[in-house]
Amino acid sequence: MPKKLQSPSGMHDIFGSQYDYFQKVREVVFKNAEIYGFQGIETPVIEDTEIFTRGTGKFTDIVEKEMYTFKTKGGDRVSLRPEGTPPIMRAFIQHGLYTKPQPVKFFYFAPYFRYERPQAGRYRQFWQFGFETIGRGGPVVDTQVIVLVYNILKELGIKNVVTEINSMGDEKCREEYKKALKKHLKKQSSRLCTDCKRRVEKNPLRALDCKKCLEVKAEAPQILDHICKKCCEDFRRVLEFLEEVEIPYDLNPFLVRGLDYYTGVVYEFFARSKKSGEEEFLALGGGGRYDGLSAALGGEERPATGAAMGVERIVLLMKKNGEVYEKEKPRVFIAQLGDLAKKKSLKLFEELKKANIPVAEAFGQDSLKNQMSRAAKLEADIAIIIGKEEAAEDKVILRDMDSGGQEKVKTSEIIKEVKKKLKE
Ligand code: ATP
Ligand code: MG
Repeated sequence: MPKKLQSPSGMHDIFGSQYDYFQKVREVVFKNAEIYGFQGIETPVIEDTEIFTRGTGKFTDIVEKEMYTFKTKGGDRVSLRPEGTPPIMRAFIQHGLYTKPQPVKFFYFAPYFRYERPQAGRYRQFWQFGFETIGRGGPVVDTQVIVLVYNILKELGIKNVVTEINSMGDEKCREEYKKALKKHLKKQSSRLCTDCKRRVEKNPLRALDCKKCLEVKAEAPQILDHICKKCCEDFRRVLEFLEEVEIPYDLNPFLVRGLDYYTGVVYEFFARSKKSGEEEFLALGGGGRYDGLSAALGGEERPATGAAMGVERIVLLMKKNGEVYEKEKPRVFIAQLGDLAKKKSLKLFEELKKANIPVAEAFGQDSLKNQMSRAAKLEADIAIIIGKEEAAEDKVILRDMDSGGQEKVKTSEIIKEVKKKLKE
């Protein structure tokens, strides 16, 4: 036995009101996914490590520092998935989905794993939902994913959403930019943190993601001045489309996202709030175009675009906003006393359910008093009481929970009587 009986560090149980918030997010995501024509996908929690070293990128924080990697008994090197996009692209290639009508649109709502220092809004197992459009793309497809996510956040009551947007160019024009950036970083080498000193050669773009080297970053050349005509045009059209659907955005020339596979437009959603007079930005998620990922995993080049959002952070804000999600109230509560009554209650519960009448019970309880106070707490309209006497007579008591008035009804008439009363 472990010394202390508790969940692993940075991993949490979801239950009670936290579960209800998760459920609300899930409902809104599933509903919108259907409206926008995305089909659900579940991939394994574990993948060959290579899916992430080749997909997410060897020199990203996620792969370098945050992955749970281990060897199986058979000697395979596998990792708990830190993100959803490379596994979905792997599935797309593996199942030959390029033969289906394009694009293929997938959505997911699932747990991910990153070995990070646990703190508020940062866990080692956390949930994301996301959308991927693979096989055909263009500015309008990029824009629609942004609109979809923006609408979901709005529907969940998240206020002050800021959408930051940039373009990372394609693999060719980005090389030009990387050279310019490298030159700048090398010149400023003495002012860089140790991580960024290392990044200069391996992956200079990561320096733009650094939370320490802000000054050097602010003076760096801007990617938009280096990208090719086609990338510029695509980016301009995304901005134009966003204006058309009235989604506000902020240009952020240094937004590069933490993953290697992005090409073209990238964006990130933040929630802006004020803490002791200072503005705070909480990252909720982001996405972009990733035309090179398929080829990086060994497939052919496929246009693709998508976004991923952090559920815990969204729930954090929903709670802060004081949103309360109430489950559907039961209209009827069944209270019982004695063995025969329990047996009849069990059957009655199924009949009410079949008749689509929201019903609740506390079959584990023997005290009628406790059962009635539970019925009151749940705000049921009617209590159906089956005592020993009623069970023997094949009758029940219907009690109006508001007025306290009650009457005896034959078992065979219950559904009809309950429906009548609920209509009143
Ligand atoms: P950050 O800069 O906050 O580490 P990231 O760039 O690593 O974020 P992404 O990979 O873009 O994050 O993941 C999308 C979203 O998933 C994040 O904006 C955040 O809401 C959520 N997320 C990422 N890592 C965690 C984590 N360890 N715990 C909880 N949520 C997370
Ligand atoms: Mg991170």
